[in-house]
Amino acid sequence: MPINPHALPQPVLRTIPREQHVISRRDISPNALRVLYRLREGGFGAYLVGGAVRDLLLGLHPKDFDVATDATPEQVRALFRNCRLIGRRFRLAHVVYGREIIEVATFRANSDDGSGDREVEDGRLVRDNVYGTIEDDAVRRDFTCNALYYAIEDFSVRDYVGGYEDVQARVMRLIGDPETRYREDPVRMLRAVRLAAKLGFAIEPGTADPIPRLASLLGEAAPARLFEEMLKLFLSGHAVASFEGLERHGLLGALLPETAAALRSNRSGALRRMVLEGLRNTDARVAADEPVSPAFLFALLLWPAYCRSLAGLQAQGMHAEEAQRRAADRVTLHQVQTIALPKRFSLPMQEIWLLQSRFSSRQRKRVFRLLSHPRFRAAFDFLVLRQTASDSHAADVEFWRQAQDSPDEELSASLVAASAAGEDDDAPARRRRRRRRRGAAPAGE
Ligand code: ATP
Ligand code: MG
Repeated sequence: MPINPHALPQPVLRTIPREQHVISRRDISPNALRVLYRLREGGFGAYLVGGAVRDLLLGLHPKDFDVATDATPEQVRALFRNCRLIGRRFRLAHVVYGREIIEVATFRANSDDGSGDREVEDGRLVRDNVYGTIEDDAVRRDFTCNALYYAIEDFSVRDYVGGYEDVQARVMRLIGDPETRYREDPVRMLRAVRLAAKLGFAIEPGTADPIPRLASLLGEAAPARLFEEMLKLFLSGHAVASFEGLERHGLLGALLPETAAALRSNRSGALRRMVLEGLRNTDARVAADEPVSPAFLFALLLWPAYCRSLAGLQAQGMHAEEAQRRAADRVTLHQVQTIALPKRFSLPMQEIWLLQSRFSSRQRKRVFRLLSHPRFRAAFDFLVLRQTASDSHAADVEFWRQAQDSPDEELSASLVAASAAGEDDDAPARRRRRRRRRGAAPAGE
């Protein structure tokens, strides 16, 4: 049974010959070319497909090269020694060359005569292994720009859904009836926003319009898939554009419900400014090929939620340290229900938050303990970021910037001198903390 026979358009082939497009074999990974040629020698159709063709047409460097073929996974395996079959929802062949993996997928159909291996639950695909023709394969893809095929037999680009024109016009357009396609797989809404942000494409109105209305469907998507999408949205160098896209299309609340609520209630807009500044830094780091950490990213994205929760608990009279721990746990617990945030990221994320209150201490022992904390650097970078939202951290930032750069003896001597000058060891720290507690949580930012 077809999912919805009217959802998909009739494919009409347009061939763009080699001399009319810009894709050159020089820009294709040699391993992908190897796979394409071998499939062809084996008598099969062999095409580069999806994001790689799109990116090459745009003059970008694809990060991976996917291949589509009419060979079955078993036939692909028989051709390559370095091949393994993976996947349940999508059965695929991986041809492995050291660290590079070329994914080879057999053409799939979106309609089913009952002979294939397909499972639909509540309108959503849970298993999709019905093989078909290249035309079937084209129309079951998500966006027209993702449904282009580069044929190794004549180096032409094959377009069945108008994707070539949409790439030239820089437009994201869903193939078929948008609402049906979003209901089939709600993650496509995130992909629309993410790819538009990454490529600088506009989302065509028919494709954009249903998104706010259907945003809540994301609540039913697999949390692990949403986590993967989050990393792609925010750690691929276009985090600011992604964030603004999610806001514009009403998707932020579906991914980060408590942060969305906290940002709405933060009238000054300070928390939003801080989030955007942090995302700008992330983008700059990616552009400079510097490492970016998911823990820091989530510390940033969930900080508004944490601040709001903390303010609430403190308003109930809870002691600061207890409130901080509870707020951190609460936000993490709630967030995990939408996005499967793994512990290896949520624990360091919480540490980044909880260390924030320790930057006000000048007590010698505490200063040294904090400096040698494994999460010190991330927590300090986070403190620097908080200055975007509030100017009350300037003195702490200055102190800890110097503290990191000073030799131990010098720092130790200056802290002893400070306490000899009347600020006896523990007192300044306590005074500061008390003041901060009354001034209420960082939510005041
Ligand atoms: P990226 O640049 O992020 O890799 P991509 O378009 O290559 O973008 P992939 O997740 O690598 O994205 O998917 C490869 C191809 O598989 C897509 O270009 C598209 O044709 C198809 N595809 C991926 N996800 C879906 C989906 N949810 N529904 C339909 N087709 C999809
Ligand atoms: Mg890809």
